[in-house]
Amino acid sequence: LLQLYQPLNFFGVVYREIKQALIDVESMVTLLSVDREVADRPGAPALAVAGGELRFEGVEFGYDPRRPILKGVGFTVPAGRTVAIVGPSGAGKSTIGRLLFRFYDVSGGRILIDGQDIRAVTQQSLRGAIGIVPQDTVLFNDTVYYNIAYGRPGATPAQVEQAARLAHIHNFIMALPDGYQTTVGERGLKLSGGEKQRVAIARTILKNPAILLFDEATSALDTHTEREIQANLREVSRGRTTLVIAHRLSTVIDADEILVMEAGTVIERGRHMELLSRGGAYAALWARQQESSQGPEPVPEVL
Ligand code: ADP
Ligand code: MG
Repeated sequence: LLQLYQPLNFFGVVYREIKQALIDVESMVTLLSVDREVADRPGAPALAVAGGELRFEGVEFGYDPRRPILKGVGFTVPAGRTVAIVGPSGAGKSTIGRLLFRFYDVSGGRILIDGQDIRAVTQQSLRGAIGIVPQDTVLFNDTVYYNIAYGRPGATPAQVEQAARLAHIHNFIMALPDGYQTTVGERGLKLSGGEKQRVAIARTILKNPAILLFDEATSALDTHTEREIQANLREVSRGRTTLVIAHRLSTVIDADEILVMEAGTVIERGRHMELLSRGGAYAALWARQQESSQGPEPVPEVL
């Protein structure tokens, strides 16, 4: 029986490894977005970033043309400001992020960065101008150095270290067995959620994008981790145009404007106190969230 069991166990291990490798590839494809849906116009220029003003004008979109998801969404994030989007699961919040990154093209309206329609510029320059701090960071199975340096091809070791310092992860890295050469990721040293996020933030700081997109974690975090992540986000978003798909009261309170989405439209907008005192959908959303002490979306998802 043992003899029979061992090969099975061996295949089990191999299967797990192959499966993990596939998951890694999948995650990377998600991160880099293989361009199936959209193509550059011939001779498209690079996006010329001035301050990083972001504007959605009457944006309409559906993954399937027969089922509209966004039904005319408009908002402006002035350069350097923060707008938070809240609303129930399925409202279309993450779709807004995907459209900004031009994973798909809008079917109506337009998306502008510093006055330029994102369909008119190269995807490379567009994506170079936007940093994503995903809610669940996937690290490459490579050194921590590689995982940060990836943010800017050709970065010098000094620049990588500077980014790590700004992300408050440098000292942690120096205490690892092999410092920056320590292998992390699923097959290396496992980092905590907060540490992984700091690595991702160091990567984003190195990339230095004008625009930041956060899709916050929906699951409940312990108070310490929540504070830590909030502080990280506040720091990296300083001076950058920031769009947050928000699940946490702390992020929303700080936002210059909050958009409340429901079924593909913005049903309320304003600052936190204004919306609370209005006693509408926003106020109800937060009252419910305080009760359940959980985000409006029970299931975490990947952008
Ligand atoms: P939210 O982030 O507000 O929860 P999403 O923007 O992720 O909502 O999704 C909005 C709607 O679009 C949902 O009904 C969802 O099922 C649908 N949707 C999301 N992604 C896809 C996709 N890749 N293909 C088809 N439908 C999708
Ligand atoms: Mg979402």
